[in-house]
Amino acid sequence: MEQKTVKRPGDCTILIVDDEEIICEMLSDALEPVYKVKKCSLGSRALQLIDEYDFDVVITDLKIPDVSGLEVLEYAKRKDEFTEVIVITGYASLDSATLAINQGVYSYLLKPLQITEFMIQVEKAVASRLFHLRSIELMRKSDAFDPDVKMHVHEITSLYYFIRKLMLSLEIAEIMRITLDEANQRMQAVLSVISISIPGFQELYLMPAQGELYETNARELVERFREQVFMSPGVPQQEVLERLQPVLFRGKQGELPRLQKVTPVAVPMMITDRILGTLTVFIDTAAAPQEGQNQFLYVFSSIVSSVIDHGYIALQAKRQAKTDSLTGIANHRHFHETLDREIARAARKKGVFALVLLDIDNFKNVNDTYGHQIGDAVLVDMTRRIMAMVRGGDVLARYGGEEFGIILPDTDLEGAEILADRILKAISSQPFSFAQRDIRYTVSIGLAVYRGEDDVGKDRLIAAADRALYDSKENGKNRLSIGTIDL
Ligand code: GH3
Ligand code: MG
Ligand code: MG
Repeated sequence: MEQKTVKRPGDCTILIVDDEEIICEMLSDALEPVYKVKKCSLGSRALQLIDEYDFDVVITDLKIPDVSGLEVLEYAKRKDEFTEVIVITGYASLDSATLAINQGVYSYLLKPLQITEFMIQVEKAVASRLFHLRSIELMRKSDAFDPDVKMHVHEITSLYYFIRKLMLSLEIAEIMRITLDEANQRMQAVLSVISISIPGFQELYLMPAQGELYETNARELVERFREQVFMSPGVPQQEVLERLQPVLFRGKQGELPRLQKVTPVAVPMMITDRILGTLTVFIDTAAAPQEGQNQFLYVFSSIVSSVIDHGYIALQAKRQAKTDSLTGIANHRHFHETLDREIARAARKKGVFALVLLDIDNFKNVNDTYGHQIGDAVLVDMTRRIMAMVRGGDVLARYGGEEFGIILPDTDLEGAEILADRILKAISSQPFSFAQRDIRYTVSIGLAVYRGEDDVGKDRLIAAADRALYDSKENGKNRLSIGTIDL
């Protein structure tokens, strides 16, 4: 009878790579009672050890002096793709964590490390490793099996890998990239497209299997197959389509395949009773359809739908924390965060930026005459008019009840004055028509320019703009004043 060789967690060998000796010690002390542990502080040494031993789990810091943690990860995966790798990283290098995700990392841990969390992650990684060893063992024994059975087991295993990658992804764009890439590979597609249509988000993501897609190609294709691409919840209105800015991902190295003769296979993406959008996979028309492909696409779509849904919920929450609910523009908090960021940037680059403060004139009268609700509508009207005039990088914020700020990056006094004058004109020249009434209103503006080299800080900048706003009010309102910063 064949001898069973079942590996247990205690038989697993783990490598720890970290140049900080204290961390290395702390981690190995925690692991040694349970596993066999090796440790080292250099990447080059880690590669040697990987050659010498068969590690079940490798735990590596991303930032090590000689060979990077990413290379250690790659090296371990090249030797045995089922070795589980956990990377340790600081917040500052979360970008590298994204790279690690693409290399099939098991998970990443942020410094400072919590030992309980760390132990749980290692336990899970060991379990995953043993699960795979068992699958491999079964696959090896199943040589007598039907090749279809083998193929199916292989598909399930790689689906598991895909789900893992997906769950580690940090942002919507990253989730979309991973999903489209996988869809292209699994369906042997020429191109895959995801359309999203949920409150607050109308989006379109495209990725060819190979090469680079340009916006005109993308728009043409989507136009040609709009019924499929927007199958659920349905094709949006023409003007919405035109405003839609498709997100284009690059495919693998190589030339973009011809998109003339493709056949779309589309499935809706939904969570219980909520429709998120459509996943459309384009197959070369000449290629024979593979058996079971459609079922696979359905299974695939339901898995990704739930991850995508969570991604949007998180994004929504992040957005709401930064926007004002009445006007939809940046709120007080976002205003200050943006100011802090611009001040830091101006200091670093010795650059300039402008701050415009704006307050509606005699707004109490508007409220008293027409009521609070119409007062609110005036606030919305004013933000719309200003939003139509500012540039993409400018930030308009409502930082008080009827007080607004505009942060204009890389803008000097001349540029800011031009914009402020245009705002004054745009608002005073046209009444706001609401409920068959023409409501005339004006605003007063204060403006100050921040020079990075002066390095005076946020408070003095705001004080200067605020004094200028006060001057505008004092001198008859509906005007612009320029403030100087106390040096
Ligand atoms: P001034 O020209 O000096 O700015 O006069 P003002 O009447 O606009 O006076 P001030 O800026 O001091 O008063 C702000 C008024 O704006 C008081 C408040 O009732 C009203 N207000 C503040 N927030 C809101 C809001 O969210 N909606 C409405 N409708 N009114 C608001
Ligand atoms: Mg006010
Ligand atoms: Mg006012």
